Amino acid sequence: MPAEAADTPGLPSAPAEVRRTFSDAATLLLRAAQPDRKHLNHGLLWLILAAGLEALGPLIGKFFLDSYLLPHNADIPAIAGLLLGALLAGMAASYLRYLQLVRLAGLAMRSVRRIRENVYGHVLRLPMSFFDTAITGQLVSRVTNDTEAVKTLYVQVLFVMLDSVIVVAGTIAAMLWLDWRLMLIVGTLVPAVALIVALYQRLSAPAVTRTRELRSELNAQMAESIAGMAVLQAGNATERFGARFADINEAHYQSRQRELRANAWLLRPVLDLLNVILLAVVIAVFGARGNGAALSALEVGVLYAFISYISRVVEPLIQITMQFSQLQQAMVGAARVHALLKEAETPIATADGRVTEGAISIQQLNFAYRTGRPVLHDLNLQIPPGSFYGIVGHTGSGKSTLLSLLLRFYPAPAGAIRIDDTPVDAIGEDHFRDAIGLVPQDPFLVAASARENITMGRKLSDAQVEAAARAASAHEFVMGLERGYDTPLGEGGARLSVGQKQLLAIARALAGEPRILFLDEATSHIDSETEQVVQRALTALRGKVTVVAIAHRLSTIRAADRIVVLNHGRIAELGTHGELMGISDGLYQRLYLLQQLEEEGAG
Ligand code: ATP
Ligand code: MG
Repeated sequence: MPAEAADTPGLPSAPAEVRRTFSDAATLLLRAAQPDRKHLNHGLLWLILAAGLEALGPLIGKFFLDSYLLPHNADIPAIAGLLLGALLAGMAASYLRYLQLVRLAGLAMRSVRRIRENVYGHVLRLPMSFFDTAITGQLVSRVTNDTEAVKTLYVQVLFVMLDSVIVVAGTIAAMLWLDWRLMLIVGTLVPAVALIVALYQRLSAPAVTRTRELRSELNAQMAESIAGMAVLQAGNATERFGARFADINEAHYQSRQRELRANAWLLRPVLDLLNVILLAVVIAVFGARGNGAALSALEVGVLYAFISYISRVVEPLIQITMQFSQLQQAMVGAARVHALLKEAETPIATADGRVTEGAISIQQLNFAYRTGRPVLHDLNLQIPPGSFYGIVGHTGSGKSTLLSLLLRFYPAPAGAIRIDDTPVDAIGEDHFRDAIGLVPQDPFLVAASARENITMGRKLSDAQVEAAARAASAHEFVMGLERGYDTPLGEGGARLSVGQKQLLAIARALAGEPRILFLDEATSHIDSETEQVVQRALTALRGKVTVVAIAHRLSTIRAADRIVVLNHGRIAELGTHGELMGISDGLYQRLYLLQQLEEEGAG
């Protein structure tokens, strides 16, 4: 799926872009770690102390060589004291490492948990217009993969890198103190490593990015195939899809191989080689200084300490190199999460307007999704409380759009839509959603039981659930399921027919006891007999609930108080069924007669 691949951006290249990525990632991390500041400080303190204690080891060794071993000074109590000191320092360092690990790893997990919750909560509050252009796979990958990348940033990259930097700094300080001229030689390691990092980046970063892209392509194709399995099998496309999957899989393998090759020859072998060369140089310098004569006792101690320090410095440098491409990937992930979090949320109307009667007033409503392409033109409509209004019209005439505006999914022009004389955007969000029920065009069911699909997390008694199901004539088929209301319905209600899904969606809307109920094609997949039951249920709401129903199937709204005929975003006709049928050659009349002919033909 190319769209998914396109969402996995390459590593940032322009300096400004890199800076922005870096600062976005840092902002995200700092904010997520904020509540854990104490743990962070402790962890860092333990980290520094442990690294410092570890750097002591070779110094103690040097002291032992210089003061006791070489001068043949067998001061047993002093040597024992020195050994004990070394042992204690080692034990203390191990314990501090343990503390540090627990603190920092815990902090990382909690931060990621926090970020993930934030991202999901944020996505739930984004305006519907955001989802017009959003691609599900990309959003899901932000909430899962990218937040996971943030964890990598913490656990693997930041701490390992920080640790390595501190160890290297401590070691360099100790070496400077011992012999700064020798230290200068060892110091050549730094530019050499920088060079290797740059080379490694050039070789492995593109492969790492590509691998990530290909992995998300694999996931996307898998998901897509499962969703469309019926089409794949019926169209005998399984082999073609299998072959395509194999191709992506092969490319993924090749890309991984390239990554591994860069790791395999650059990291360990090249850095180990550097290590050996440095050791040789340091030993040669010592030889030259001594001019062939035996080394003084003092220099043996320094030589010993240097040799231990050099190998100690190389290991963390290897670590830093290895983490580098991970770091960039994780930064990109963190920056993407940050970008999503910056998307403006739907302003939660804290206003205190109420829905009381359920009267709807639409005045001079114009609307366009994109400027220059108007969908609704100058709509005027008064819907009295408790009445039943039907909306009909050709495909694309703007029926669902009108509902979306009434539901505040998109912002309508100020004051154009009022409920009980209050502009819709002056009604508090929670109250608004409770007071208004929706049965959408595509019935949406969650992978849960029939009961949970009706309650949707609301606190409803069994009696309330059953009453709503009866009113929507869903009770009978639910009782026919093997575990009644507790039967799991599968993802998207896969176990039900489309008509049954619609009935459940109606029951769900009724269970909320709304003041206003919107139905978008709620009866299109229900057989005529069941539809009559639903019709009766809707009619029974008369006087209590304002019902606005979009219907292609005109029998559903035949009994409506008024029928609105939309044509290209304008109200073409308005009246009762009888009145509209009286308009000779009217739009409604034509639609109705056509449908009757079809039904007779089918009968
Ligand atoms: P149907 O009977 O097929 O459901 P409808 O009357 O409900 O049709 P709408 O969904 O309101 O039609 O669409 C009206 C017009 O607005 C169509 O031309 C459609 O292409 C356009 N449209 C709908 N939704 C969007 C959107 N999210 N972004 C841009 N244009 C849209
Ligand atoms: Mg529609």
